[in-house]
Amino acid sequence: MDLAIVGAGTMGAGVAQVAITRGLAVTLYDAVPAAVERGAQRVSEALGRGVQRGRLSVAEHDAALARLSVTQSLDDLAAAPFALEAAPEDLAIKREVFAHLGRVCAPGAVLASNTSSIPITAIAAGTAHPGRVAGMHFFNPVPALPLVEVIAGQLTDEATVAAVIAMARRLGKTPVRAKDTPGFIVNRVARPYYGEALRILAEGTDVAIVDRVMRAAGFRMGPFELMDLIGIDVNFAVTRSVYEAFFGEPRYRPHPIQAQMVAAGTLGRKTGRGFYRYDEAGHEQGEGQGRGQEQGQSKGDGDAQR
Ligand code: NAD
Repeated sequence: MDLAIVGAGTMGAGVAQVAITRGLAVTLYDAVPAAVERGAQRVSEALGRGVQRGRLSVAEHDAALARLSVTQSLDDLAAAPFALEAAPEDLAIKREVFAHLGRVCAPGAVLASNTSSIPITAIAAGTAHPGRVAGMHFFNPVPALPLVEVIAGQLTDEATVAAVIAMARRLGKTPVRAKDTPGFIVNRVARPYYGEALRILAEGTDVAIVDRVMRAAGFRMGPFELMDLIGIDVNFAVTRSVYEAFFGEPRYRPHPIQAQMVAAGTLGRKTGRGFYRYDEAGHEQGEGQGRGQEQGQSKGDGDAQR
């Protein structure tokens, strides 16, 4: 095993796909048995699409999938020289995962977190060896986006940082060092993109109009389609985390619309409905939240069919 991945959701599956395609042997773990199967299925489907599009030969596809194994026990990751955690954005969960990995993995193993916003120092403090804990923050979708933020906590060893940078390069990514400040660089800069868009929505403008305007202004994705891609729950957790880390700084305040959508389970693409609705194949089917949906009509259809 070259790489253990803890959490088989959007990010864990994305990193697994990239890693096995680049020749690494990966073991994928999730606390939810169905989720680990779903994650492996997602990797398999993505590689299948790669073959259809001519990006991968059948032999490469088969060899890559043979390098992926799954487990439902964290103890099975004991032999991993490098473990990446991509569990929910919750400090208590991450600390528990790292404490467990710290107990079972070899003393030289690197333990990295894909957290978007939680201080690496706080995650590392839950382990006996904080020197081998670092941040390794991938971006979604992992196969498409080259950036990886590499974050050292207060007690992270330089050798650990070097190992994370080397792993990022092995995965074909572009590592950039970031300070252990709330939201690091990208998520800090991006906070108002979501926050102001949610306030504009609350003031009565449709999501599809905001998205269309921001795309026309040069952004690759509008804020609402981006939140649907990220996951409303993940985006909300990251916003809360940055808000709390700055002791309630009003600029980062989460919006009740996010809380309501999490309560409703309309989490974006991964549940088939968020600010937009999606069919089985992931194609947008018009707005999924707000006035258009309540009135039983789709205001965003024209914009959504991109
Ligand atoms: P997700 O909800 O898609 O997946 C999380 C997975 O973790 C689920 O499969 C869940 O079953 C599993 N899980 C729950 N408790 C666990 C535990 N105790 N141990 C192991 N697995 C557990 O979330 P995601 O979008 O993949 O996000 C994972 C991490 O990556 C978060 O820290 C998030 O902030 C970060 N991240 C997300 C994005 C994004 O765009 N979604 C981008 C960069 C970083």
